[in-house]
Amino acid sequence: MMIQPAELESDVVLRDGSTIRLRPMRPDDLPVLHTLHQEHSGSGTESSHAPGHTVPFDRGPEPGDADGTFVLVGETGGQVVAVASFDRDERRPDRAEVYFAIVPALQGRGVGTRMLELLARIAWTRNISTFDAWVRRDNDPVLRMLMDSGFTAERRLHDGVCQVSLSLTHTPDYRERAAERSELAATASMRSFFEPHTVAIVGASRERGKIGAEILHNMLRDGYTGRLFAVHPSAGQIDGVPAVKRVSDIPGDVDLVVVSVPAPSVPGVVDDCIAKGAKALVIITAGFAETGAVGRQLEAELLARVRRAGIRMVGPNCMGLLNTDPAIRVNATFAPVSPPAGSVAMSTQSGALGLAILEYAQTLHIGLSTFVSVGNKADVSSNDLIQYWANDPRTSVILLYVESFGNPRKFSQIARRVGRRKPIVAVKSGRSTAGARAASSHTGALASSDAIVDALFHQAGVIRTDTLEQLFDVAMLLANQPVPRGKRVAILTNAGGPGILAADACEDNGLELPALSQHTVTHLRSFLAREASVANPVDMIASASPEQYERALAAVLADEAVDSVLVIFIPPLVTVMEDVAAAVRRAVAAHPGKPVLGIFMSTKGASPLLAPIPCYQFPEAAAVALARATTYGAWREEPVSPVPTFRDANRRAARTIVDDVLERGGGWLTPAESQALLQSVGIGVAAQVVVETEEAAVSAAVKIGYPVVMKAVGARIVHKTELGAVVVGLKDEAAVRAAWRDLATRLSGTMTGALVQEMVTGGVEMLVGALEDPTFGPVLACATGGTAAELFADSQFRLHPLSEADAAAMVEHLRGAALLRGFRGSAPADEAALRDALLRLSLLVGWCPEIQELDINPLLVLPRGVRAVDARARLDRPRVTAGAKRVQY
Ligand code: ADP
Ligand code: MG
Repeated sequence: MMIQPAELESDVVLRDGSTIRLRPMRPDDLPVLHTLHQEHSGSGTESSHAPGHTVPFDRGPEPGDADGTFVLVGETGGQVVAVASFDRDERRPDRAEVYFAIVPALQGRGVGTRMLELLARIAWTRNISTFDAWVRRDNDPVLRMLMDSGFTAERRLHDGVCQVSLSLTHTPDYRERAAERSELAATASMRSFFEPHTVAIVGASRERGKIGAEILHNMLRDGYTGRLFAVHPSAGQIDGVPAVKRVSDIPGDVDLVVVSVPAPSVPGVVDDCIAKGAKALVIITAGFAETGAVGRQLEAELLARVRRAGIRMVGPNCMGLLNTDPAIRVNATFAPVSPPAGSVAMSTQSGALGLAILEYAQTLHIGLSTFVSVGNKADVSSNDLIQYWANDPRTSVILLYVESFGNPRKFSQIARRVGRRKPIVAVKSGRSTAGARAASSHTGALASSDAIVDALFHQAGVIRTDTLEQLFDVAMLLANQPVPRGKRVAILTNAGGPGILAADACEDNGLELPALSQHTVTHLRSFLAREASVANPVDMIASASPEQYERALAAVLADEAVDSVLVIFIPPLVTVMEDVAAAVRRAVAAHPGKPVLGIFMSTKGASPLLAPIPCYQFPEAAAVALARATTYGAWREEPVSPVPTFRDANRRAARTIVDDVLERGGGWLTPAESQALLQSVGIGVAAQVVVETEEAAVSAAVKIGYPVVMKAVGARIVHKTELGAVVVGLKDEAAVRAAWRDLATRLSGTMTGALVQEMVTGGVEMLVGALEDPTFGPVLACATGGTAAELFADSQFRLHPLSEADAAAMVEHLRGAALLRGFRGSAPADEAALRDALLRLSLLVGWCPEIQELDINPLLVLPRGVRAVDARARLDRPRVTAGAKRVQY
């Protein structure tokens, strides 16, 4: 049997929110596959095949070579319900015939599309770039599925049979379709959690203080509008709620079941829920993966049950979820407080923190739309939730408390898309285990996991805060105020000191304090005290009246030089805080469109007075929140930057080098291989020749042209400078011979030859690198380079694939960027060529996921072009990932 890697097994979410298991075919599937093929042949859910062809599984349990053929099986509830395959065209090896058959009962749920997506991904890694499907011309469902897939499609008719050719390139159109499908599926699958018509609480009891009792109490207190049942071994009703022994005893459909029974009873309850056809489970019960190896096993079994049934689960080990929508009012948490309704959605990975969060939200008057404690995230993760919230009209801000990422690549794709519509604010705690990463390269040594998380958030437009307090400071702003359109802040104050503190805090956080326009200045003069300062900050002095606050705020909001306003108030004896708050609210209501933040430096809770205008106690907190929101606003305004393709880059050449190295077991590339790999994607490299004798060194130098550089080569010669293995500036034959003899003597035993290289002068030394991170996937690095790269630690990271804007930002954000721009009279370096090299390297790691680490150090950036003079790369087979743990959309 051909080996089909198990990592290709995955659970995918369908259009109706249910899931299906997709996995490679096993020999024991054969009889079922034949039945499926025969019974549904010619139906609306089967494609045909090319005249004279057979489907691969018709050829027995070994359907051809592993590389050109793949049979994918779809399974729900342990039953095979779908099959799809591709089969390479022997005459044109970049094409394959694709085939589908799905039981009609599953029609209309997007099974075929999902299988096509996965098959296309697999085929692409095997150098297949076109699928040909054969479909009867009257088979509308299959034709529509193919034409709507997002792949560029071409149709040809042969005797009543359509040949549909799909180009498997991920065009922007394809990505958009796939993202839309993913969002629709995730939204459908979250709906049973947030908009349930019938809820059952398993483990409900009368004993207040017990978790089940508290959940039932919360459901009643918040006035759940649907049908509610308690599941209890003996009671007939609890607090007026009808009680049944088992979920399966409940009449009619059940959407959501909340389970808080001891861990050993959970599997039985879950089986009963599945038998009943419940769609969503919240497992409150603890004692799973968080407790160690045994618990991890229990959790894996629980997940397997749930996935087999095609339903979704929140938890285990969580504190539940709530939705404040007045039409639903589901509060399936055991939190003692119920937060006010509003537009902020939040997911938290820590249950204990969840309680504190709900309380804190209440004191800050932050209204929540929905709240979920995701616990161990065995199934539902923030990736599902963000997609649901993207389409939830009641949610305008998304908050995440994240400890770890399940599928950061998916997160990055989803966040980038959703962030354009709604801000995502995240606090990421804990350091992920970066220890597992091999850090034998410069790039590896520079890239902490935290730097990579920063890169991820940065590219995806996610607002990262350092603390929970900041998370809510930002949420308070974005939930109630427009997103700032620019960096220019005006400050209004009734005391000098806090005004200066606020101004400093703004500038420290990248905001600007512009001069107000002449018109505003004249106007302010006309009604403020003579002692007032009308520059920015506007100090209205202690006597400022509520009326002066209102008029001054109106004036600065109307000023075109201003994007946002901080209003500071220190209660003096004479002015009443309530009156000032009311004045501020009036001015804001009359001039909407620009964010206003209050800083009321009073120990008495000022927030309710100013609500919905966000109110802070100290200037620093307000400035930080405003700066984060401003950065987000700028990100959102940027046009989507393209990921370039390079026509002169040669995928086949790159793959050939990589495949050859893998053939010998992977590992480090020789200097010649590294050079060829970079050349395959068009990165400029210094001319070089590897030689084994003194004579060969001399003729290489003549061929390259003097002056040259000589570097000792040998398996154990890694950091060459430290070993004295680099000799630069060899001007003639005598110098080359002398260098050879010197190296050969000093490094005898380790030196197997030497690299004779073109001497490159007048360039700025930069480091450009790539790294395969076990959690985040390929990461690209750009740093101030040369032999002191680690010393300067001036580096920027971004996740693959790099867009043009990403590459520009990487260079821009380096402190060493000044070196490129003609530092101290040197000629400016070709920054465009540096960006180009970064983009080409990104392309290379996309083509070759086998690249574990790759360093170009230095890449010499010349006044025109770049030259790589030292490159190291290590290859290994791509890591096997546990596909089935993470659900695909
Ligand atoms: P290593 O990093 O192993 O010590 P490199 O090949 O990077 O060795 O060489 C060390 C330094 O020598 C480089 O940072 C660069 O300053 C200089 N150098 C190396 N090769 C060249 C070259 N072809 N032209 C100019 N300078 C070079
Ligand atoms: Mg080097």
